[in-house]
Amino acid sequence: MTDPQRPAEGPAGVERFLSPGTDNEQYLLIAGDEALIVDPRGASSLRRLQRAGRRPVGVLLTHTHWDHIDGLPYILTAWPDLPVYVHAAGVPDLPPEARTVLLTDGDRLPFGGHDLVVREAPGHHPAHIVVRRDDLLLVGDVLFAAGCGRPAGADHMLDTARSVLQIVGEAEGDPWLAFGHDYAREGLAFAALVEPDNADIAAFAAAAAERAAEGRPEPWRRLSDERRVNPFLRTAEPTVREGLQRAGRPFDPTDTDVFAALRRWRSEQ
Ligand SMILES: [Zn+2]
Repeated sequence: MTDPQRPAEGPAGVERFLSPGTDNEQYLLIAGDEALIVDPRGASSLRRLQRAGRRPVGVLLTHTHWDHIDGLPYILTAWPDLPVYVHAAGVPDLPPEARTVLLTDGDRLPFGGHDLVVREAPGHHPAHIVVRRDDLLLVGDVLFAAGCGRPAGADHMLDTARSVLQIVGEAEGDPWLAFGHDYAREGLAFAALVEPDNADIAAFAAAAAERAAEGRPEPWRRLSDERRVNPFLRTAEPTVREGLQRAGRPFDPTDTDVFAALRRWRSEQ
Protein backbone atom coordinates (compact mmCIF):
# COMPACT_ATOMS: atom_id res chain seq x y z
CA MET A 1 0.00 0.00 0.00
CA THR A 2 1.20 3.54 -0.64
CA ASP A 3 1.48 5.96 2.27
CA PRO A 4 -1.63 8.19 2.15
CA GLN A 5 0.38 11.15 3.50
CA ARG A 6 3.35 10.92 1.18
CA PRO A 7 2.49 11.23 -2.51
CA ALA A 8 3.72 8.26 -4.50
CA GLU A 9 5.91 8.85 -7.51
CA GLY A 10 3.94 6.58 -9.79
CA PRO A 11 5.10 4.55 -12.75
CA ALA A 12 8.01 5.47 -15.03
CA GLY A 13 7.28 6.56 -18.59
CA VAL A 14 3.87 8.09 -17.86
CA GLU A 15 2.83 11.72 -17.63
CA ARG A 16 -0.40 12.29 -15.77
CA PHE A 17 -2.25 15.60 -15.71
CA LEU A 18 -5.71 17.05 -15.18
CA SER A 19 -7.33 18.87 -18.06
CA PRO A 20 -7.55 22.47 -16.77
CA GLY A 21 -10.87 23.31 -15.15
CA THR A 22 -12.04 19.66 -15.21
CA ASP A 23 -11.64 16.49 -13.17
CA ASN A 24 -10.53 14.53 -16.27
CA GLU A 25 -7.24 12.72 -15.74
CA GLN A 26 -5.15 12.41 -18.88
CA TYR A 27 -2.05 10.41 -19.62
CA LEU A 28 0.82 10.32 -22.05
CA LEU A 29 2.77 7.09 -22.25
CA ILE A 30 6.32 8.10 -23.10
CA ALA A 31 9.16 6.23 -24.76
CA GLY A 32 12.11 8.39 -25.75
CA ASP A 33 10.62 11.30 -27.69
CA GLU A 34 7.54 9.28 -28.67
CA ALA A 35 4.20 9.56 -26.92
CA LEU A 36 0.99 7.56 -26.92
CA ILE A 37 -1.91 9.83 -25.99
CA VAL A 38 -4.63 8.41 -23.73
CA ASP A 39 -8.15 9.91 -23.64
CA PRO A 40 -7.44 13.45 -24.89
CA ARG A 41 -9.64 16.11 -23.28
CA GLY A 42 -9.73 19.58 -24.85
CA ALA A 43 -6.50 21.07 -26.10
CA SER A 44 -4.39 20.09 -23.09
CA SER A 45 -2.82 16.90 -24.54
CA LEU A 46 -1.83 18.73 -27.70
CA ARG A 47 -0.30 21.64 -25.77
CA ARG A 48 1.62 19.29 -23.54
CA LEU A 49 3.05 17.37 -26.49
CA GLN A 50 4.05 20.50 -28.33
CA ARG A 51 5.69 22.05 -25.28
CA ALA A 52 7.83 18.96 -24.76
CA GLY A 53 8.55 18.55 -28.50
CA ARG A 54 7.28 14.98 -28.47
CA ARG A 55 6.11 12.99 -31.46
CA PRO A 56 2.77 11.26 -30.97
CA VAL A 57 2.51 7.73 -32.36
CA GLY A 58 -1.17 7.18 -31.63
CA VAL A 59 -4.22 7.89 -29.51
CA LEU A 60 -5.56 5.20 -27.20
CA LEU A 61 -9.17 5.52 -26.08
CA THR A 62 -10.37 3.68 -22.95
CA HIS A 63 -13.92 4.48 -24.12
CA THR A 64 -15.68 7.12 -26.19
CA HIS A 65 -17.73 9.26 -23.83
CA TRP A 66 -17.40 12.83 -25.06
CA ASP A 67 -15.18 13.94 -22.22
CA HIS A 68 -12.56 11.34 -23.19
CA ILE A 69 -12.44 12.19 -26.89
CA ASP A 70 -13.13 15.90 -27.29
CA GLY A 71 -9.39 16.54 -27.63
CA LEU A 72 -9.26 14.40 -30.78
CA PRO A 73 -10.03 17.19 -33.26
CA TYR A 74 -7.10 19.25 -31.94
CA ILE A 75 -4.75 16.31 -32.30
CA LEU A 76 -6.04 15.14 -35.68
CA THR A 77 -5.76 18.67 -37.07
CA ALA A 78 -2.08 18.64 -36.19
CA TRP A 79 -1.48 14.96 -37.12
CA PRO A 80 -4.32 13.77 -39.43
CA ASP A 81 -2.88 10.28 -40.02
CA LEU A 82 -2.36 9.38 -36.39
CA PRO A 83 -3.86 5.95 -35.58
CA VAL A 84 -6.71 6.04 -33.06
CA TYR A 85 -6.88 2.77 -31.10
CA VAL A 86 -10.44 2.07 -30.02
CA HIS A 87 -12.96 -0.72 -29.45
CA ALA A 88 -15.33 -1.18 -32.41
CA ALA A 89 -18.35 -0.16 -30.32
CA GLY A 90 -16.86 3.33 -29.98
CA VAL A 91 -16.30 4.09 -33.65
CA PRO A 92 -19.69 5.81 -34.22
CA ASP A 93 -18.73 8.40 -31.57
CA LEU A 94 -15.55 9.47 -33.36
CA PRO A 95 -14.96 12.08 -36.05
CA PRO A 96 -15.32 10.27 -39.40
CA GLU A 97 -11.84 11.34 -40.49
CA ALA A 98 -10.17 9.49 -37.59
CA ARG A 99 -7.94 6.62 -38.79
CA THR A 100 -9.23 4.01 -36.37
CA VAL A 101 -7.46 0.79 -35.43
CA LEU A 102 -9.86 -1.60 -33.73
CA LEU A 103 -8.95 -3.28 -30.46
CA THR A 104 -10.52 -6.40 -29.04
CA ASP A 105 -10.03 -8.63 -26.00
CA GLY A 106 -6.50 -10.03 -25.77
CA ASP A 107 -4.96 -7.70 -28.35
CA ARG A 108 -1.39 -6.59 -27.75
CA LEU A 109 -0.20 -3.19 -28.79
CA PRO A 110 3.59 -2.78 -28.72
CA PHE A 111 4.86 0.53 -27.40
CA GLY A 112 8.18 1.50 -25.85
CA GLY A 113 9.43 -2.06 -25.49
CA HIS A 114 6.27 -3.20 -23.71
CA ASP A 115 3.18 -4.96 -24.92
CA LEU A 116 0.03 -3.12 -23.94
CA VAL A 117 -2.56 -5.83 -23.34
CA VAL A 118 -6.21 -5.06 -24.00
CA ARG A 119 -9.18 -6.42 -22.04
CA GLU A 120 -12.77 -5.60 -22.85
CA ALA A 121 -14.49 -4.09 -19.80
CA PRO A 122 -18.02 -2.99 -20.74
CA GLY A 123 -20.62 -1.71 -18.30
CA HIS A 124 -19.93 2.01 -17.94
CA HIS A 125 -19.71 2.15 -21.72
CA PRO A 126 -20.00 -0.64 -24.33
CA ALA A 127 -16.65 0.34 -25.90
CA HIS A 128 -14.76 0.36 -22.60
CA ILE A 129 -11.42 -1.40 -22.46
CA VAL A 130 -8.75 -1.57 -19.77
CA VAL A 131 -5.14 -1.74 -20.87
CA ARG A 132 -2.23 -3.27 -18.98
CA ARG A 133 1.41 -2.28 -19.33
CA ASP A 134 3.38 -4.40 -16.83
CA ASP A 135 3.24 -2.01 -13.86
CA LEU A 136 0.35 0.14 -15.08
CA LEU A 137 -3.36 -0.46 -15.55
CA LEU A 138 -5.29 2.11 -17.58
CA VAL A 139 -8.76 1.71 -16.06
CA GLY A 140 -10.52 4.75 -17.53
CA ASP A 141 -13.95 5.05 -15.95
CA VAL A 142 -14.20 1.40 -14.83
CA LEU A 143 -12.59 2.15 -11.47
CA PHE A 144 -11.93 5.38 -9.56
CA ALA A 145 -10.15 6.02 -6.28
CA ALA A 146 -12.54 4.42 -3.76
CA GLY A 147 -15.24 4.24 -6.44
CA CYS A 148 -16.25 2.89 -9.81
CA GLY A 149 -17.98 4.06 -12.96
CA ARG A 150 -21.74 4.28 -13.21
CA PRO A 151 -23.38 1.54 -15.31
CA ALA A 152 -24.65 2.76 -18.69
CA GLY A 153 -28.14 1.70 -17.51
CA ALA A 154 -29.80 -0.77 -15.13
CA ASP A 155 -29.30 -3.59 -17.65
CA HIS A 156 -25.53 -2.93 -17.63
CA MET A 157 -25.10 -3.64 -13.91
CA LEU A 158 -23.85 -7.21 -14.42
CA ASP A 159 -21.30 -6.14 -17.02
CA THR A 160 -20.16 -3.33 -14.75
CA ALA A 161 -19.74 -5.73 -11.82
CA ARG A 162 -17.78 -8.19 -13.95
CA SER A 163 -15.48 -5.49 -15.31
CA VAL A 164 -14.71 -4.13 -11.83
CA LEU A 165 -14.55 -7.39 -9.88
CA GLN A 166 -12.84 -9.57 -12.48
CA ILE A 167 -11.07 -7.50 -15.11
CA VAL A 168 -9.63 -4.97 -12.63
CA GLY A 169 -10.04 -6.68 -9.25
CA GLU A 170 -8.38 -9.92 -10.33
CA ALA A 171 -5.51 -8.26 -12.22
CA GLU A 172 -2.20 -9.87 -11.34
CA GLY A 173 0.45 -8.11 -9.31
CA ASP A 174 0.07 -4.61 -7.92
CA PRO A 175 -0.10 -2.20 -10.86
CA TRP A 176 -0.40 1.56 -10.62
CA LEU A 177 -3.92 2.64 -11.60
CA ALA A 178 -4.62 5.32 -14.19
CA PHE A 179 -8.16 6.55 -13.42
CA GLY A 180 -10.23 8.55 -15.92
CA HIS A 181 -11.27 11.11 -13.30
CA ASP A 182 -10.20 12.40 -9.93
CA TYR A 183 -13.21 11.58 -7.77
CA ALA A 184 -11.12 10.58 -4.73
CA ARG A 185 -12.83 12.76 -2.13
CA GLU A 186 -16.38 11.76 -3.14
CA GLY A 187 -15.33 8.12 -3.35
CA LEU A 188 -13.69 8.11 0.05
CA ALA A 189 -16.70 9.85 1.62
CA PHE A 190 -18.93 7.04 0.35
CA ALA A 191 -16.42 4.38 1.41
CA ALA A 192 -16.45 5.82 4.95
CA LEU A 193 -20.22 5.60 4.97
CA VAL A 194 -20.02 1.91 4.06
CA GLU A 195 -17.12 1.10 6.41
CA PRO A 196 -16.94 3.74 9.15
CA ASP A 197 -14.34 1.76 11.13
CA ASN A 198 -11.90 1.19 8.25
CA ALA A 199 -8.71 3.03 9.35
CA ASP A 200 -7.22 3.01 5.84
CA ILE A 201 -10.26 4.81 4.45
CA ALA A 202 -10.03 7.40 7.24
CA ALA A 203 -6.30 7.94 6.56
CA PHE A 204 -6.77 8.31 2.80
CA ALA A 205 -9.74 10.65 3.29
CA ALA A 206 -7.81 12.88 5.70
CA ALA A 207 -4.85 13.08 3.32
CA ALA A 208 -7.14 13.84 0.36
CA ALA A 209 -8.89 16.63 2.28
CA GLU A 210 -5.52 18.15 3.20
CA ARG A 211 -4.34 18.07 -0.42
CA ALA A 212 -7.58 19.60 -1.66
CA ALA A 213 -7.27 22.44 0.87
CA GLU A 214 -3.76 23.14 -0.42
CA GLY A 215 -4.70 22.75 -4.08
CA ARG A 216 -2.42 19.75 -4.56
CA PRO A 217 -3.37 16.92 -6.91
CA GLU A 218 -4.19 13.41 -5.77
CA PRO A 219 -1.24 11.03 -5.97
CA TRP A 220 -1.02 7.80 -7.90
CA ARG A 221 -2.66 4.76 -6.34
CA ARG A 222 -1.87 1.10 -6.59
CA LEU A 223 -4.34 -1.74 -6.87
CA SER A 224 -3.36 -2.81 -3.34
CA ASP A 225 -4.54 0.61 -2.06
CA GLU A 226 -7.91 0.12 -3.68
CA ARG A 227 -8.23 -3.38 -2.29
CA ARG A 228 -8.07 -1.80 1.17
CA VAL A 229 -10.36 1.18 0.68
CA ASN A 230 -12.57 0.73 -2.39
CA PRO A 231 -15.93 -0.80 -1.38
CA PHE A 232 -16.50 -2.01 -4.94
CA LEU A 233 -13.41 -4.25 -4.68
CA ARG A 234 -14.34 -5.31 -1.14
CA THR A 235 -17.68 -7.00 -1.77
CA ALA A 236 -16.58 -10.15 0.12
CA GLU A 237 -15.68 -8.23 3.29
CA PRO A 238 -18.10 -8.74 6.18
CA THR A 239 -17.72 -5.05 7.13
CA VAL A 240 -18.93 -3.98 3.67
CA ARG A 241 -21.94 -6.29 3.87
CA GLU A 242 -22.69 -5.00 7.38
CA GLY A 243 -22.61 -1.48 5.98
CA LEU A 244 -25.28 -2.39 3.45
CA GLN A 245 -27.37 -4.02 6.17
CA ARG A 246 -27.09 -0.97 8.43
CA ALA A 247 -28.28 1.21 5.57
CA GLY A 248 -31.27 -1.09 4.99
CA ARG A 249 -30.01 -2.10 1.54
CA PRO A 250 -31.07 -5.66 0.66
CA PHE A 251 -28.68 -7.98 -1.20
CA ASP A 252 -28.08 -11.62 -1.99
CA PRO A 253 -24.79 -12.85 -0.55
CA THR A 254 -22.91 -12.97 -3.87
CA ASP A 255 -20.15 -10.54 -4.79
CA THR A 256 -22.11 -9.44 -7.85
CA ASP A 257 -25.23 -8.66 -5.86
CA VAL A 258 -23.29 -6.89 -3.12
CA PHE A 259 -21.63 -4.85 -5.88
CA ALA A 260 -25.02 -3.96 -7.40
CA ALA A 261 -26.44 -2.91 -4.01
CA LEU A 262 -23.39 -0.71 -3.37
CA ARG A 263 -23.51 0.80 -6.85
CA ARG A 264 -27.23 1.68 -6.51
CA TRP A 265 -26.59 3.24 -3.10
CA ARG A 266 -23.66 5.27 -4.47
CA SER A 267 -25.80 6.54 -7.36
CA GLU A 268 -28.32 7.92 -4.87
CA GLN A 269 -25.67 9.94 -3.00
ZN1 LIG B 1 -15.38 10.00 -17.97
